[in-house]
Amino acid sequence: MNLTVTGTVGIDTVVTPHGEHREGILGGSGVYFAAAAGKYTPVGMVAAVGDDFPAEFRTQIAGLSGVDTAGLEVRAGSKTFRWGGKYLDDMDHRETLFTELNILIEAPPPVPGAYADCPVVFLANMHPGVQHGLAKQFTKKRLIVADTMDLWIGAARAELEVLLGDVDGLVLNYDEAEQLTGHRNTVTAGKRLLEFGPRFVVVKKGEHGAILVHRDGIAALPAFPAETVVDPTGAGDSFAGGMMGSIAAELARGGAAAKDPGAFQIVRRAMAHGTVVASFTIEQFSLGRLGPLTKAELDERYHRYMHMLRLE
Ligand code: AMP
Repeated sequence: MNLTVTGTVGIDTVVTPHGEHREGILGGSGVYFAAAAGKYTPVGMVAAVGDDFPAEFRTQIAGLSGVDTAGLEVRAGSKTFRWGGKYLDDMDHRETLFTELNILIEAPPPVPGAYADCPVVFLANMHPGVQHGLAKQFTKKRLIVADTMDLWIGAARAELEVLLGDVDGLVLNYDEAEQLTGHRNTVTAGKRLLEFGPRFVVVKKGEHGAILVHRDGIAALPAFPAETVVDPTGAGDSFAGGMMGSIAAELARGGAAAKDPGAFQIVRRAMAHGTVVASFTIEQFSLGRLGPLTKAELDERYHRYMHMLRLE
């Protein structure tokens, strides 16, 4: 396996400001990440759901290109993680309606033996203590990156700080970087986070793009200017999926990333892939657009995005 993600597989409720909402749709940090990363390279998924998890969602995940579900545990007698979110008028900010942790407070799923020597690992949103426990099971990792969010910063800050000492990179939202550091300025917040140990921090700013604060430099990438925004859920996770997926693919090919998968220029270029894949995720609810997305569509938009970045 080139890449493994540990994270949540859940059932979401999403409310948007234009009267459209969906209840009981497929979601979860691990799902969005894997759906995006699988467009670039084979990705294994480590997560657990309860026996209430709809069979059609399992079929949907198993049908995603590049996604291996050997690490997706269905636990008898347990209940699946559920989350509800409501977007504000700007579609860029949201409030959490509810979080039912359910299976997330039980023992985490085991990392399958076949994934343990995976070189690239992404710890998608989960309790930082659980993320750390899972991280330790990967024996040959060359690049390990974590994501986090408001709930975990509030509930498990100390564990998160310990985790940061053991990862190469951290991906988080603008508001969360401020919540974690007390600094509203992205560069200041990023530099503060580097003091905990990671080599780089990627701060996502929704429609305003993403900033890379790396020990070797700072870079900014704009978001792809999207015309269709139906449901921003999963944009952050699929951004990370495109970013990590493109690095893992290049590493497996023996490209520049093989030398140092966490180098400034490698991460910066990978962020462009993350940006483009995330711009598809938001066009539909759940995996409506991301799931069936073809490599040709992805490549076409990537080239358009590259063209937009170029200054004559
Ligand atoms: P994003 O929009 O990229 O931040 O990710 C949204 C997804 O993360 C949704 O599908 C949720 O099921 C999942 N999610 C929401 N809250 C949490 C949490 N506290 N821990 C892990 N996953 C979460």
